[in-house]
Amino acid sequence: MKKRLFTPGPTPVPENVMLRMAAPIIHHRNPEFMEILTRVHADLKYLFRTTQPVVVLSCSGTGGMEATISSIFKQGDKVITINAGKFGERWGELVRVFTGNCVEEKVAWGSAIQPERMAELLKEHPDAKAVCLTHSETSTGTAADIKTLSALIREESDALVLVDGITAVGAHEFHFDDWGVDVCITGSQKGLMMPPGLALVAISERAQDIIKGQSGMPQYYMSLKKALKAHAGDDTPFTPAVSLVIGLDEALQMIKAEGIENIWKRHESLANACRQGCNALGMKLFSNSPSFAVTPVWIPEGVKWSAFNKALKNSNGITVAAGQDEYKDKIFRISHLGFYDELDMLTVIGGIERALKEINFDFEIGAGVSAVQKAFLGN
Ligand SMILES: *Cc1c(COP(=O)(O)O)cnc(C)c1O
Repeated sequence: MKKRLFTPGPTPVPENVMLRMAAPIIHHRNPEFMEILTRVHADLKYLFRTTQPVVVLSCSGTGGMEATISSIFKQGDKVITINAGKFGERWGELVRVFTGNCVEEKVAWGSAIQPERMAELLKEHPDAKAVCLTHSETSTGTAADIKTLSALIREESDALVLVDGITAVGAHEFHFDDWGVDVCITGSQKGLMMPPGLALVAISERAQDIIKGQSGMPQYYMSLKKALKAHAGDDTPFTPAVSLVIGLDEALQMIKAEGIENIWKRHESLANACRQGCNALGMKLFSNSPSFAVTPVWIPEGVKWSAFNKALKNSNGITVAAGQDEYKDKIFRISHLGFYDELDMLTVIGGIERALKEINFDFEIGAGVSAVQKAFLGN
């Protein structure tokens, strides 16, 4: 059976990217690799819409978040984090581990932090050194308005704007420089059409000044200071994940060929079609500010997640993501992040229909697929 992955990380990897990574390993000090890394550094600036360095770390996305917190702050620094789901919660956990002074704002799952509340938080905590945001909260499939939030934080405070863009970069419109973001992180296995293993971290001038000027927290390997120093010579402080960097070079060529604006539009269109398909099957949407990377839906009444998921996997080869925490068994999440096209949306909605039929859920067969067709082709 053909296996089809519809999870928001890892995401499918194109064949040309896999083939590049399958080539015999080369040495990272060899000119051939140095040339690739130099090109990757340049193309990552295109991806993040920045003229500032984007460093490549050998770790998953969380490693990029940890490197950020441990490289920027000192013990006791106050940091505001927005917890609207699992990944916003992770920012808070990291801040508590490293600085021990976290102001955590909880937002209901499925909603995003509103600018009015952000303004209040900044007034209540004028001494906050930074605000940690999540652009696309993957656990709830919810997008935050980073452009507005970042402008507000810049205007009302001196706090740095730190953005977890792990499922937003390459899916949602994002302008690192123009929006005044200080750090943005993504991971290779999300919008970049790559296997897991790399974190990419864009760093603003004022964040670089802070990182270079202080010793940070106890850390050694996860140091943005070391990464920035090496980056200046298009190098890395330690042996990079050579094969993954080479794969990333290939993926970035694909991204440039399609064009970043077109990629944002494609994700918006796939997300819209996915939502239409779910609606047509009588499945309610979970988020009130939907992400273009992942669509969470309520599991219909009378459907048991375990049976539904088994039918999806075993009879249709489809892997979607389950709900997390209290939404385990209540919602499931369909990814359209990265290497997906319109026919993939027909496939996943068609597969969901077949699985629902198999477990005797009552609906009109073809209704979801028809809605997806109409979303793409017009009525
Ligand atoms: C996947 C994800 C992470 C964590 O990344 P890992 O690569 O699993 O460490 C963090 N934030 C968001 C929004 C994510 O989707």
